[in-house]
Amino acid sequence: MSFELLILGSSSATPAHQRNPAAQVLTFNDKNYLIDCGEATQMQMQRYKVKAHRIDKIFISHLHGDHYLGLMGLLSSMHLQGRERELTIYCQPELKDILALQFQVSDTALRFVINYQFFTPGTEVLFEDEQIRVIAFELNHRVPCKGFLFCEKPRQRNLIIEKVQNAGIPLDFYQELKAGKDYCDNNGLVFKNKDLTIDPPASKSYAYCSDTLYQESLIPILKGVDLLYHEATFMHDLLDRANETYHTTSLQAGQIASKAQVKKLIIGHFSARYKDLNPLLEETKSVFAPVYLAEEGLVYNF
Ligand SMILES: [Zn+2]
Ligand SMILES: [Zn+2]
Repeated sequence: MSFELLILGSSSATPAHQRNPAAQVLTFNDKNYLIDCGEATQMQMQRYKVKAHRIDKIFISHLHGDHYLGLMGLLSSMHLQGRERELTIYCQPELKDILALQFQVSDTALRFVINYQFFTPGTEVLFEDEQIRVIAFELNHRVPCKGFLFCEKPRQRNLIIEKVQNAGIPLDFYQELKAGKDYCDNNGLVFKNKDLTIDPPASKSYAYCSDTLYQESLIPILKGVDLLYHEATFMHDLLDRANETYHTTSLQAGQIASKAQVKKLIIGHFSARYKDLNPLLEETKSVFAPVYLAEEGLVYNF
């Protein structure tokens, strides 16, 4: 299994230079996870052929408009298109009231249930199933803000089928072999798991750091992830502005990636003041590579 990340928006604060506010879709094991939902996200989904009915979980990092103003439109369309399946939104508690008021004044009774799961302070597991675990962690922004870590769970071991068959291991023990257990036959003879199986491919991970100050406390959380998305709102000559507004510079995004030894970095959440993003990319590259710009419509497989 692998992750696929589609960028739907990469602009901070306002749409600018054909760039939309924050939104992206992470696909894993045929499930789509929507991460932030800036204005016009549903139009971007249509443009890039993301099926709304395949989204069951939405993660909203914080309640600045560039991260959630597209949500009402998306939910309304889901309703009008006849959605009945439940939807879970991971968010700050106030979002429920904001949406409820809009549904109330428009006399809309949604056909589907929204489960709200509110963030709690600190690092927490938002949900997990057999294949994936999603963790929320604190960012340092002007309002409460969360980052997200998507971790594939360790995969099963691969059987060396010839050796397994030669050892005469019964079929109904194969699953336990894949889980790492040794086999002991009726005579007490032990077959070591390491002789019968090989390591599975390494598990993959993705971290999303939306709006935040440069934050070294994130390093242990981000350690070694396969792909890190980190905001880079300004270039480093505007460090004072970044600090005032609780944002990161393109140099600092590279420094975090380097210190956390991530494998690849995507920078995004660009200020409208930058039409050409290459200077930001070059600045990040001066401290970390490989790094890519979060560009609308680009797909990253990992
Ligand atoms: Zn923002
Ligand atoms: Zn913000």
